[in-house]
Amino acid sequence: MAVRAGTTRLICPLTSATVEAMRADMRAAATAGADTVECRLDFLTRAPEPGDLAQLLSDAPLDVIVTCRAEREGGRFAGDERDRLAILHEAAKHHPAFIDVEMDVPPSDWPDAPVIQSRHDFQGIPADIDAILKAQEASPAAVNKVAFTPAGPEDALLALDAAGRTGKPTIALAMGEAGVLSRVLARKVAAMGTFASLSPQTTSAPGQPTLEEFKQLYHWDSMSADTAVYGVIGCPVGHSMSPAIHNAAFAAADVDAVYVPLLIQPGTENFNRFMDAALARAWLDLRGLSVTIPHKESALAYVGADNCDELAVRIGAVNTITIAPGGELRGDNTDYAAAIDAVCDAIGIAREGLAGRSVAVLGAGGAARAIVAALAHYGAQTTIYNRTVSRAEQLAGEFGGCAASIDAAASIDAEIVINCTPIGMHPKVDASPLESVPPAVKVVFDTIYNPIETRLLALARAAKLRCVSGVEMFVNQGVAQFERWTGQRAPRDVMRRVVLEHLGA
Ligand code: NAP
Repeated sequence: MAVRAGTTRLICPLTSATVEAMRADMRAAATAGADTVECRLDFLTRAPEPGDLAQLLSDAPLDVIVTCRAEREGGRFAGDERDRLAILHEAAKHHPAFIDVEMDVPPSDWPDAPVIQSRHDFQGIPADIDAILKAQEASPAAVNKVAFTPAGPEDALLALDAAGRTGKPTIALAMGEAGVLSRVLARKVAAMGTFASLSPQTTSAPGQPTLEEFKQLYHWDSMSADTAVYGVIGCPVGHSMSPAIHNAAFAAADVDAVYVPLLIQPGTENFNRFMDAALARAWLDLRGLSVTIPHKESALAYVGADNCDELAVRIGAVNTITIAPGGELRGDNTDYAAAIDAVCDAIGIAREGLAGRSVAVLGAGGAARAIVAALAHYGAQTTIYNRTVSRAEQLAGEFGGCAASIDAAASIDAEIVINCTPIGMHPKVDASPLESVPPAVKVVFDTIYNPIETRLLALARAAKLRCVSGVEMFVNQGVAQFERWTGQRAPRDVMRRVVLEHLGA
């Protein structure tokens, strides 16, 4: 069968233990939207007989890649090499779409099926990666395939470079969480294929998204070379709700864009390495980044204070980078505005209406810092209550306001209380930074969003006070990012619905 250049196949690896289960999974993959399946014969618990292969490969509902991966390349086939090749030759008689063989197997020995010539490295990037790609280009195989283990997402860009520039159809993948970018954007660079599992339990390599994720989350069917790219940089980043929120928002607003997780290990040098590599590739169309722990300070340094909003510089943290088509960068902090807007909306005032109001902030960490800076900017009278009093004093000294021990919080005399500690966060949902709400308080804002109603908020609701959940802050900062990146009004209701769905509400 001829290779369809220019179309990227969504290939579902079938890692079933029996031929019967593999046939059933083939049908499930077709229903779930795969274009091609890869029958991983090395996952079968019993070596397949000729009859098994006929049963598996005749009348397949989709194009089939046959693979029987040897242990030396990360597969499960532990038997004799001659037996492995015999199984593959027997399978080839049924004319699958492709036979996948490793680079040490002659690609010319397969008259019955086009060959994918593959090389895997589960430890890192092969030192001779360029020579490998050159050799694959020169070989009689129909398709090149390399899969390696990246140190960071900048290495995933190397895979996309390889898939995009080769003369022959190519599959090039960076495995693991840091490599997700290379899998999701395969269609943008017209790679020959990318792998999508039936479920998280049936992946054939680390970092492989499911068919449902490709189709629903990453808008696979509408991705093209022109699709703009956005992402969230952090460590950890795997449980971030941002990809779900922003991808849903792009779809709802009909913006041709995809948003991916970017796992970057702590350290400014790691952050800078990715940024340099991404910005050097105009074809990537990287247009915006959310930045989370521990990279917000690095983001400010990278973008430069002159290109950041004033409060972001004072807070010392950038959580949003916007990249113009010409490569110019802008840095913002949408956390502080998101937080104070959540409070102002609940009271029904503009930000300026905070002037002169008394606010008690519990905690003196990163979230408190952004909120205290914004409260000071808009003229609120702030008292910071913290376990480590010296941190509260430092924050008050920097932005104005008073400092106290968290032990004194029971006697708060303020109109608004904002909890910026993790006390009451899942799984310790029975905890609360206050055992009862002091009488002067009229508004309680808990920045925690899981659970949506913390014990502190339940106490405030029982006392008939105005309550603001961390969900509002979370949605607000996503809305602000979307609007800064696209210049369009964000589909707020869609974004809130996604957050609530993720939180099980
Ligand atoms: P952080 O930098 O680690 O600061 C945590 C603060 O809480 C510190 O002041 C710490 O006091 C205090 N603290 C921690 N455990 C405590 C305990 N057992 N008893 C008393 N005080 C305690 O964290 P962060 O980034 O500021 O995040 C804080 C909270 O904000 C989290 O719960 C997070 O869910 C929430 N948040 C929400 C959003 C949103 O969009 N809704 C965004 C960001 C953050 P010490 O100084 O004494 O260590």
